[in-house]
Amino acid sequence: MESSGGQLGSFVKAVAFAAEKHRNQRRKDADASPYINHPIALANVLANEGGVSDATVLCAAVLHDTIEDTETTENELTTTFGSHVSSVVLEVTDDKSLEKHVRKQRQIEHAPHISTEAKLVKLADKICNLRDILASPPANWSAERKQAYFDWASKVVAGVRGVHPNLEAVFDGLVARHAELR
Ligand code: NDP
Ligand code: ZN
Repeated sequence: MESSGGQLGSFVKAVAFAAEKHRNQRRKDADASPYINHPIALANVLANEGGVSDATVLCAAVLHDTIEDTETTENELTTTFGSHVSSVVLEVTDDKSLEKHVRKQRQIEHAPHISTEAKLVKLADKICNLRDILASPPANWSAERKQAYFDWASKVVAGVRGVHPNLEAVFDGLVARHAELR
């Protein structure tokens, strides 16, 4: 991707954009952590655990929840970051007009058919959410609810396997650690 500030400039712009969009949101953990920690965590996993340097992937990672969880539109992302970043974000965005169980089933069904860039973002998203559930889970989630999330995330990740074996091993390690804790 191109921009006047280069790839690093684009990435910093995406971080600033996501921070502004998520500024009033919090995660579901007991401490209600700032929401932006999560999109930044995805980029950190991709860049520093996965060695991913593709600016389109890193920008899409920090922007991945903007359309789904804020007022951000596809057109706004296209204008600001270009059509490639925008299309990757759209690929990892649930259709919130659908019922929750339908949305979750669609993620499982669609994962094998999305782009390589979107598969990387999706894999990092699931790694970060499993880590959050292990370290700072949503308040009031029972052991069964956590297990249901791990089972569902494993089904989604089954559909992206082959995209990044090292990050898939990170995901598998988290599933194994959770199983040991039970
Ligand atoms: P929820 O939307 O209820 O909660 C999980 C989502 O919340 C994550 O995907 C993440 O989404 C976000 N999140 C915010 N804070 C945290 C945090 N601290 N730790 C982890 N996640 C956080 O769950 P889902 O709709 O994603 O449900 C996934 C699956 O779980 C379902 O398909 C079903 O299999 C199962 N389920 C089980 C239920 C039960 O009672 N047993 C009820 C509902 C679902 P993001 O990255 O987008 O911010
Ligand atoms: Zn997410």
